[in-house]
Amino acid sequence: MKNYTAVIIGGGPSGHSAAVRIAQLGGRVALVERDFIGGICTNWGCTPSKAMIESAKVAKTVAESEKYGVDIQEYSVDFGRIAQRRNQVVEQTREFVTELLRNHQVDIYQGEGELVSSKKVMVKGGKLDPDGTSMHYDGDVIELHTENVIIATGSRPLIPSFIDASDPSIVSSNRLISINERPESLVIIGGGVIGLEFATIFSNLGSKVTIIEFLDRVLAQMDEDISTEITRIMEANGVNVLTSTKCTGVNNGVITAEDMRSGEEIRLDAPMVLVAIGREAVLNEKMYTGSGISYTRKGIAVNDFQQTNVPGIWAVGDATGRSILAHVGIQQGIVAAENIMRKKGEQFREMDYAVIPAVIYTLPEIVGVGTVPEDLDGVQVTRVPFAVNLRAGIENYQDGFVKMWIKDHKLLAAQAIGHNVSEIMQEAANMIALESDVRAVSEIIHAHPTYAEIIRSTLDQALGKAVDFYL
Ligand SMILES: Cc1cc2nc3c(=O)[nH]c(=O)nc-3n(C[C@H](O)[C@H](O)[C@H](O)COP(=O)(O)OP(=O)(O)OC[C@H]3O[C@@H](n4cnc5c(N)ncnc54)[C@H](O)[C@@H]3O)c2cc1C
Repeated sequence: MKNYTAVIIGGGPSGHSAAVRIAQLGGRVALVERDFIGGICTNWGCTPSKAMIESAKVAKTVAESEKYGVDIQEYSVDFGRIAQRRNQVVEQTREFVTELLRNHQVDIYQGEGELVSSKKVMVKGGKLDPDGTSMHYDGDVIELHTENVIIATGSRPLIPSFIDASDPSIVSSNRLISINERPESLVIIGGGVIGLEFATIFSNLGSKVTIIEFLDRVLAQMDEDISTEITRIMEANGVNVLTSTKCTGVNNGVITAEDMRSGEEIRLDAPMVLVAIGREAVLNEKMYTGSGISYTRKGIAVNDFQQTNVPGIWAVGDATGRSILAHVGIQQGIVAAENIMRKKGEQFREMDYAVIPAVIYTLPEIVGVGTVPEDLDGVQVTRVPFAVNLRAGIENYQDGFVKMWIKDHKLLAAQAIGHNVSEIMQEAANMIALESDVRAVSEIIHAHPTYAEIIRSTLDQALGKAVDFYL
């Protein structure tokens, strides 16, 4: 019987990053996964959604090809082939992660992991069905001995009480991201990150999409200007965005809602209804109560070293309820791994939540990083439209803007909506994390013409020295 340094329950990004880091540092690792390696992110989240958004982007570009002097008279969207491509991308990513784990001599156990104590995990063995799509359990139980356990069991969609999850028109994000046929119409309950990403995919691929949002704007966690701009863009693209609207029920493709401003009842018909009002940690209460682990409805309670209250038991990723972002889970996994492997006398590594870029992969993309101050005393707020950026003009992506909050020459927060802003806003994140002086960054040469120049343009505008545009 092997004795492991750590047994990790859950093979999503937080679990597999912890596994690789422990192995790199010389530890012996077992990873238990009851479903597919890669977790939600690889199989039903980040990877397939971005694969489909890429198809949506191509469809949009083709639809607008005339603008570029390319006349495409006839084209069609073959949803079946889009789905096939998505599946290939998912399989490749899953294989890549599996190989990465094997390359680091991580033992992978396929099955349901059950925590017995910080020293013991039972695995109820499962086997993939021959078609590779679902798991069945063959009854074998394996006992794993270890010095540490990391719980990395992820999250699942939150279903509100007014929704009957068994209604045939209700689809989970897992199912919607896996479908092979495009619905003619789709109603999305929730105008948050996941809701808007699905609206982007399906509206650009030809479905009639309606978003029902309870609050008075979509993406309420972002600056109001961002909500206004993405609503304008979505509506121009044919999406029906209903804000201040409360969904009251879904019955076999009939969706009822109430306009909270007028009190009027709204009825919509759609064969598919996605509930995207948030996600909740996957909690195994029996397992935690048995081993004395503290948790709340939000997730497993951990300190900044990723330790639970039980020595030797750690938790990472969505299961902790601290965030539902893969990159946060990955960082938590690395922190837990380094703390497990730290040498005697070495300090614990702390998780730092101060600078987390949050990206919404709409078309165009949206990014927020840093904390927008509530008290704007002494804070300079600068907004520069994407249209001033030469590259954006050349390539016809003028929608959007970058907005920055600066105090005492330090960037506090930045939000942006615009073409590929996920790639350029890391510079803003680094500035916040490194507490860079905005005057110094504005003097760094940025290549021309690039989208990245808009970061410098916004800083220059704040400093009153922009030379390449006027507002
Ligand atoms: C549609 C969608 C799009 C998303 N897009 C992005 C994105 O672009 N960027 C981003 O940062 N985040 C995105 N996310 C969120 C991201 O997927 C999650 O934050 C991330 O997957 C969390 O990783 P994790 O390792 O904590 O858990 P998960 O990825 O959920 O993995 C947990 C794993 O644990 C396994 N498990 C659970 N219990 C047991 C058990 N008892 N025994 C064995 N195995 C078990 C599960 O089968 C699962 O594979 C998206 C989510 C969705 C739904």
